[in-house]
Amino acid sequence: MKILFCSSEVVPFAKTGGLADVAGALPKALAKKGADVKITMPLYKNIKPKSNTPLAHTPVAKNVDCLFIENDSFFNRDGLYGTSLGDHPDNLERFAFYCMKTLALMKDIDFQPDIIHCNDWQSALIPVYLKSIFRDDSFFKKAKTVFTIHNLAYQGVFAENEFNKIGIDRSLFGIQGLEFYGKVNLLKGALIFSDHLTTVSPTYAREIQTKEFGCGLEGVLYERRNNLSGILNGLDYDIWNPQVDSLIFEKFSSDDLSGKAKNKQLLQKQSGLAVDKSIPLFGMISRLAEQKGLDLLAKTIEQLMKLNIQVIILGTGEKYYHDLLGAMAKKYPRKLSLNLKFDDKLAHSIYAASDIFLMPSRYEPCGLGQLISLKYGTIPLVFKTGGLADTIEDFDEKRGCGNGFVFDEYDPEVFFETIKRSIDTYRIKELWKELVLAAFACDFSWENSAKHYLDLYKRIMTNA
Ligand code: ADP
Repeated sequence: MKILFCSSEVVPFAKTGGLADVAGALPKALAKKGADVKITMPLYKNIKPKSNTPLAHTPVAKNVDCLFIENDSFFNRDGLYGTSLGDHPDNLERFAFYCMKTLALMKDIDFQPDIIHCNDWQSALIPVYLKSIFRDDSFFKKAKTVFTIHNLAYQGVFAENEFNKIGIDRSLFGIQGLEFYGKVNLLKGALIFSDHLTTVSPTYAREIQTKEFGCGLEGVLYERRNNLSGILNGLDYDIWNPQVDSLIFEKFSSDDLSGKAKNKQLLQKQSGLAVDKSIPLFGMISRLAEQKGLDLLAKTIEQLMKLNIQVIILGTGEKYYHDLLGAMAKKYPRKLSLNLKFDDKLAHSIYAASDIFLMPSRYEPCGLGQLISLKYGTIPLVFKTGGLADTIEDFDEKRGCGNGFVFDEYDPEVFFETIKRSIDTYRIKELWKELVLAAFACDFSWENSAKHYLDLYKRIMTNA
């Protein structure tokens, strides 16, 4: 099976969030199962393709090639989508170019895909182009499109007067097309024109058909519910594995947790926290945005600092949270370590060193942080939503089940009480060990998810 996988970010070349992790791992997992995969992404500044001629491409794994779409005036600049000053003003042109060029490139290299798998608004025009400009093109005749929503809140919305830059017929700017309240909505185009839609967890697939989570597109999604499924993301255990991770202080496994304790001690030292193995260390690695439950943290941080705990936060985002958390870190330097940056190495260290991982997201399509945590024996504390609800089960010592702490009312008091409950469990050594071992035992490798995708591809290929 020939698969074209389109993503605006791909690990290890460029990453701003979970999409890059997925785009780096799923193609590899598909290829392991026999598929032939080409990935396309923009050639951003600082990416050095291995081969520079004639089409910059880089082999990623056996039967996986990453092809870079080159255009210096669009992509050779700081920021994938924007800078601290805001979104790049020409994003519509940049990603329309990426989409059109991707399809042209397939012809140039004579790669005739069975499946074209697009992701998020940046590649949303590909299914639109295939059903309009390329409608009668025999090269793409058998290609079926799958579109994955990684986060419905980001839709690629532009002013109406930009529509002509897309290069498609004006008739597609309408309620049955790309129009959304008088604006151009690229994601909506993909929701209408793709053969099949997926999102990254079964629960989120249901949630987005409701007003609360649908971001205005719930009607479109509900209409397409028979062609919409949820497939959980996996994790690339080649990258996220404490037994082989060279970015952490000391490697460890579930058989010997002394290495995990060492990571905690060294991270406490490096971060200026009190070095004390008995204090529960809470980690949080996240965009600092309300989606990620930062409002809950902001409302409880003062109370939390009165407990005998430590918190280490890594992330960037809204200025309000930078300032608020910054003031707290100044006040409690031995208890709160705040790292306002994107730092992959520190992220690995935090996953390895923390006892509990905070992920109180208001909504979460799948979430990777909780899955990474489990692999490092770090217990996730999550709000019951989307992929968090599908992967984390509340610990119940009596029934002897669960792999984390889950709260189901999005409320600061409930969040705070759940943190206290996690600390109480942490204090009981045997119980904690049981929970940590349950976390280690979870398997969220891509193996399983890739199989679901392949089954789906096969199904839609036979639906002529
Ligand atoms: P989202 O894609 O919504 O931001 P996910 O949980 O799906 O959230 O994925 C986030 C990914 O980005 C995880 O791999 C997480 O470790 C990583 N990450 C987030 N913020 C940072 C940061 N400041 N530094 C390093 N890695 C980060």
